[in-house]
Amino acid sequence: MARTSLIAGNWKMFKTPREAEAFARLLVDRLTIPPGREAVVAPAFPSLVPVAAVLRESGLRLAAQNVHEERQGAFTGEVSAEMLRDAGCDFVIVGHSERRTYFGETDALINRKIASVLAVRLKPIFCLGETLAERERGETLTVISRQLKEGLKNIVPDDIRRLVIAYEPVWAIGTGKTAAPEQAQEVHAFIRSEIEGRYGSDAARRIRIIYGGSVNPGNIGKLMAERDIDGALVGGASLTVDSFAEIVNYQEVLE
Ligand code: PEP
Repeated sequence: MARTSLIAGNWKMFKTPREAEAFARLLVDRLTIPPGREAVVAPAFPSLVPVAAVLRESGLRLAAQNVHEERQGAFTGEVSAEMLRDAGCDFVIVGHSERRTYFGETDALINRKIASVLAVRLKPIFCLGETLAERERGETLTVISRQLKEGLKNIVPDDIRRLVIAYEPVWAIGTGKTAAPEQAQEVHAFIRSEIEGRYGSDAARRIRIIYGGSVNPGNIGKLMAERDIDGALVGGASLTVDSFAEIVNYQEVLE
């Protein structure tokens, strides 16, 4: 089954609302999204509404970078999934390693966030991945298995079709070090097999598993040639029009 590939740009805490709006306009003018692909941008919260207005008539989709786990309430400074949907988002990045590392997000909290996103029928981009120390200790697949098990606790098969999983080895994020395509493929295949074990072969065939970690125009082609890599979550290289456009327009490169 051919899965629609997904290229998502995570703008992190870059670009003011005005800059984000202008950048989105450039992207809409310059980007041609090939058939069978989906492209998404994830600006910071204050930029979501102005960027949504720019993207409205385009093929580009909008994601948020984070969400609060509760539906609503007295949680000063937080943003709910329903607010994100109303702001024009289709996707929400959940459990990014920067959230896990700098904001203490645990697998249990990430599980609640995924549930809150699914409850309003948005699509979570569920990030997971091992640290360098974990990889060096040979614990990569154990860590991934635990993150999947905890993160997807009580998530029902019907909701799994809206989930995207982003495998992001922590040692490759923002470091310029990319996992070798076959290294990434090994983990993607493992994630797909875990999904199969939990949700069956149809869910495993359909679920999109994207790779993140220093993806750029020079390495996307080889990554996308791997059979279980369905796209990319891109940080640094999504901040300029040319590099993001080149990544969206990748050509698979067979070794
Ligand atoms: C990310 O932010 O998810 C990411 C992978 O960043 P970078 O592409 O800069 O490594």
